[in-house]
Amino acid sequence: IRALAPVVGADATAPITGSASPVTYANLDYAASAPALTSVADRLAGALAEYASVHRGAGHLSQVTTARYEQARETVRSFVGARADDTVVFTRNTTDSINLAACITPGDVVVLDIEHHANLLPWTRAGLARVVSSQPTIDDTIFALDAELAKAPAALLAVTAASNVTGEVLPIARLAGLAHRHGARILVDGAQLVPHRATSIASFGVDYLVFSGHKLYAPFGAGVLVGRSDWLDAAEPYLAGGGASATVGIDDVAWHTGAARHEAGSPNVLGAVSIAAAAQALRAIGFERIGQHEEALVRRLDDGLAALPHVRPLRIFDDAYGRVGIASFVVDGYTPRQVAEHLSGGHGIGVRDGKFCAHPLLAKLGHSDGAVRASFGVGTGSDDIDRLLAALAELG
Ligand code: PMP
Repeated sequence: IRALAPVVGADATAPITGSASPVTYANLDYAASAPALTSVADRLAGALAEYASVHRGAGHLSQVTTARYEQARETVRSFVGARADDTVVFTRNTTDSINLAACITPGDVVVLDIEHHANLLPWTRAGLARVVSSQPTIDDTIFALDAELAKAPAALLAVTAASNVTGEVLPIARLAGLAHRHGARILVDGAQLVPHRATSIASFGVDYLVFSGHKLYAPFGAGVLVGRSDWLDAAEPYLAGGGASATVGIDDVAWHTGAARHEAGSPNVLGAVSIAAAAQALRAIGFERIGQHEEALVRRLDDGLAALPHVRPLRIFDDAYGRVGIASFVVDGYTPRQVAEHLSGGHGIGVRDGKFCAHPLLAKLGHSDGAVRASFGVGTGSDDIDRLLAALAELG
């Protein structure tokens, strides 16, 4: 693991940090899972060396562990700019968070057809989803959402903050205003935004935000749902068991309110501590710098791809609000798997190929057979992008 290193000079495209990946490997698959930051690995190792049961024991180590877990919750609260009375629930990942949200939502949910399956299937399975077709522009898409919300009351608008396929960013504050005008709440799938842009629940006017630790430079197995406490406290616990229950008889139970209500069972303290460490590391680097770095790399990649006539990038909107470090494309004459194998076997470049758990979107964009996705973050440098472009040029 290379040390957390400052950017050298003024080059915004130099990697901001090192990662656990071997130097010879160009990891362009951050949108799937981002490599752990050095400071996260260190914090995790410290917590792993010394822990005991959480929320249960009077022993010193139990108390230390409980304090670490609850401190992590407060760090996450401030990292995402949550309101003081919002509840921060630790979950397994974004998928888990949205499945929990589907258990607490008291009515219809309006969703777009561009979503990751994690922000579609929990709603459709619960019989809550009203799916709206995205339009070629964000303005027209907001118009279509407006019409759907006006047609019949909905409890929630559930929308991604940034597409996991194209990286296009959606105007969250505008969408929050739209939902609220119709008496609905908004849940934002922040899986692809939170690692890359400053996120403020309170100033965006978001009611619920969900994201995953493993895309935030922390390990697998922990995620977050944060937001308004009333629905969380009114709903049945997501899981039944110890920790969620205050008093229990054979035939009756009184459940806790607050985060504990939905965190039955021994929680993933190490995952929560790692998410908090990642949040602190990203704040220390600064999202302004992270944004500049990633935008410079997006421009470099876009310009390079535009110069390759056999490579066709995927886009949902004509008027996106910027992009996080994600570019998906197809290459004429090759299947996505052949391209990914060429990049991996021939060049040591790791990308994702397939349909990115967004089958309806891929079908809509005319790529039901899938595409190739390159994605990046703070550990990526211009040399990684140039290596990808050179390898793709060979397929022309
Ligand atoms: N939403 C989006 C936008 C994603 O990119 C992903 C992960 N690809 C998910 C949800 C699901 O995340 P997880 O697999 O961590 O539950």
